[in-house]
Amino acid sequence: MTAEAGFPAPADLHTHSRVSDGTETPSQLVRAAREAGLGTVALTDHDSTAGWHEASEAAVENGVTLIPGMELSTRHGWRSVHLLAYLFDPTNGDLVEETARIRQSRLTRAETIVQKLSADYDLTWADVVEQTTPGTTIGRPHIADALVARGFVPTRSEAFAGILHPATGYYLPHYAPETLDGVRLVRAAGGIPVIAHPATRGRDNVLDEEYMAALAEAGLFGLEIDHRENTPDGRVRLHELAETYGLRITGSSDYHGSGKPNRLGENTTAPEVVQAIADEATGWEPVRP
Ligand code: AMP
Ligand code: ZN
Ligand code: FE
Ligand code: FE
Repeated sequence: MTAEAGFPAPADLHTHSRVSDGTETPSQLVRAAREAGLGTVALTDHDSTAGWHEASEAAVENGVTLIPGMELSTRHGWRSVHLLAYLFDPTNGDLVEETARIRQSRLTRAETIVQKLSADYDLTWADVVEQTTPGTTIGRPHIADALVARGFVPTRSEAFAGILHPATGYYLPHYAPETLDGVRLVRAAGGIPVIAHPATRGRDNVLDEEYMAALAEAGLFGLEIDHRENTPDGRVRLHELAETYGLRITGSSDYHGSGKPNRLGENTTAPEVVQAIADEATGWEPVRP
């Protein structure tokens, strides 16, 4: 797409609304972005574009530039890899089909987790549904919120550290496509793929170099290096990989409203990187106020 104006800084390219596991509606989130002093914000709900319309209207009303996006669930072997995707065509058939399949699997997986939990805790599926709005991409955060509402844990974060941790017997994975297929899917829909928080488990658990090379070859755009959960040694490794494979560097908050301590704008992306994303994307346009 053709370059216009440029992008108002600061830019935060990873946030969640109630469409997935954030605690604010898309318009509340955009208002919060303005109040936090952001010039540009990306809405990246898990496996859903259902918030784009509302966020776009709010962006115009609030004078914030919006980059419509998504955080696509993928996996590589046993590991879950989150792929941020920007400015793709939300009506692309393959992407619509794949995200529907992921959301369906997330739903049956969450029901099974709750069934397992109900043997030990007085918790029902209705308690979890109460923590969602119609169409929400369901995840462990909603089960966590139900556990909080029932008084079993004080906060969502403590539910993740304890009852919902994969090390306990209640955890189950959900369906997700291979990361390489995810990159191809996003590119085929005209979008720009960036790996979210790629080093939360430290340097030795970053995706191996051969696979990173294949992802770059398939069209991976960048790595979200500036994210609070990437470890210091992991970031060093990511900078090496970015340099070797010509990947751009992004930074963002991964804001979830009151669901996580992450604050809007705590990490940001350089305006020229946002510009490069907009220049390369062919699926959708940024929303400019
Ligand atoms: P799931 O994808 O269902 O396995 O749930 C994991 C998701 O929960 C990740 O995307 C996290 O960002 C999200 N999450 C939301 N709030 C929290 C929290 N307080 N602690 C840990 N993860 C959280
Ligand atoms: Zn999330
Ligand atoms: Fe994530
Ligand atoms: Fe996220």
